[in-house]
Amino acid sequence: MILAESPYLLYSDGEGNIFEDLSLYATGRTGWDAVPVPEDEWIEIPEGGSLYELPGRRGIGIDVKTGDMRLCEKGWAVAAFIPPAHTGLYIAAYETMADAPTLPLFCYTAASWFNGKFYVPAVRIENDIRQESEGFDTAKIETGVTKLLAAYPHNRLVKHLAENCCLTYHCPAARNFFLGRWECPIPSSPACNANCVGCISFQPEEETIVSTQDRLTFKPTAEEIVEFTVPHLESAPFPIVSFGQGCEGEPLLMWETIRESIKEIRKHTIKGSININTNGSKPDAVKALCEAGLNSMRVSTNSAREKIYTPYYRPNNYKFEDIIESLKVVRSFGGWTSINYFVFPGMTDSVEEYEALRKLIRETDLCMIQWRNFNIDPDWYMGKIGVAETGECMGIKQMMELIHEEFPNLKFGYFNPSMERIKGNFEADFAH
Ligand code: SF4
Repeated sequence: MILAESPYLLYSDGEGNIFEDLSLYATGRTGWDAVPVPEDEWIEIPEGGSLYELPGRRGIGIDVKTGDMRLCEKGWAVAAFIPPAHTGLYIAAYETMADAPTLPLFCYTAASWFNGKFYVPAVRIENDIRQESEGFDTAKIETGVTKLLAAYPHNRLVKHLAENCCLTYHCPAARNFFLGRWECPIPSSPACNANCVGCISFQPEEETIVSTQDRLTFKPTAEEIVEFTVPHLESAPFPIVSFGQGCEGEPLLMWETIRESIKEIRKHTIKGSININTNGSKPDAVKALCEAGLNSMRVSTNSAREKIYTPYYRPNNYKFEDIIESLKVVRSFGGWTSINYFVFPGMTDSVEEYEALRKLIRETDLCMIQWRNFNIDPDWYMGKIGVAETGECMGIKQMMELIHEEFPNLKFGYFNPSMERIKGNFEADFAH
């Protein structure tokens, strides 16, 4: 539903209660700037979304009488965490007080209120329903955990996926595994060769924020990996098994074990897709995995520009060009490639980034962009990578439209596609 007029700003009393301020229209943030949000870019907050109060921050709104921008002094600013499959178009707009704490690793999309409902500037970018909150039945998940722990009593990885990923972190991929469907996670690497500012599995002592998951503490064997992945590929609908998860370091550091696992898996089943989520740092290892039978690869990046990538990833012994080379290698084997593109309004939609992304798509013959919300404190991120000025921006929605127009075969989404989508009708409604 397109709003008839601008929605109102939200604020919190600092005790978890949220209110609308009818004297201020809501705005959005792009880069360092607060801007009006076009009415047709607000949607009702999707099921599974949640609202956050932002301590030490005052919301920026537009005075309904004067049209001037001013702060809401009634309470703290409010932002929305929008659920997967949706991409945020503007960040929450606020002014940060001197003693404000760094915000934890979540996304902070703009949020507003109109006619009794909460709104966010976002688009649904993905049909697939694998992470819809209403699709997770806790009782069925717990039954699945009991069943699979009994089926694999000596498997450290199944134990990790059950106790940590599924029952503690509530990881949607782990929960789908224990429900016997879709994408199954295979964390494998306790170490990483990058030092991302916003790493979700490791945060240095000196940082005030914590990682949202703890990093895996052991190196699984190929036997442990193969034991539960073959039955999953054989029995799950639209099956995918994915190396590279949020609770580990970089899987390419375990490429020999992964190669051995892929070879063994393909001796037992040809079903489904074997995917790796990676920082793409080791093209030679990627080549070895493709020779073994890897089907698809997703490379994570905050930018298609080396000068924005390097200060964020802080790579050890690899460089931006290596991730480009890895994408090319998989395409040379006919594999599927995606970028896990961390969307940051004001950075992602800058004209410079747009040009760099066009070049990356052409150079690597990329198959898919997963337009992911960037889970990071905006001020902290831009401060850490040293960006004071973002340059001219076009808006995330317009950028998506331009990329789609120029590259009509390039797929947009949020999740790794199943083989049925890769080989079949990609747009088909996999409502499962
Ligand atoms: S590549 Fe992944 S595991 Fe490594 S530092 Fe970055 S976010 Fe963390």
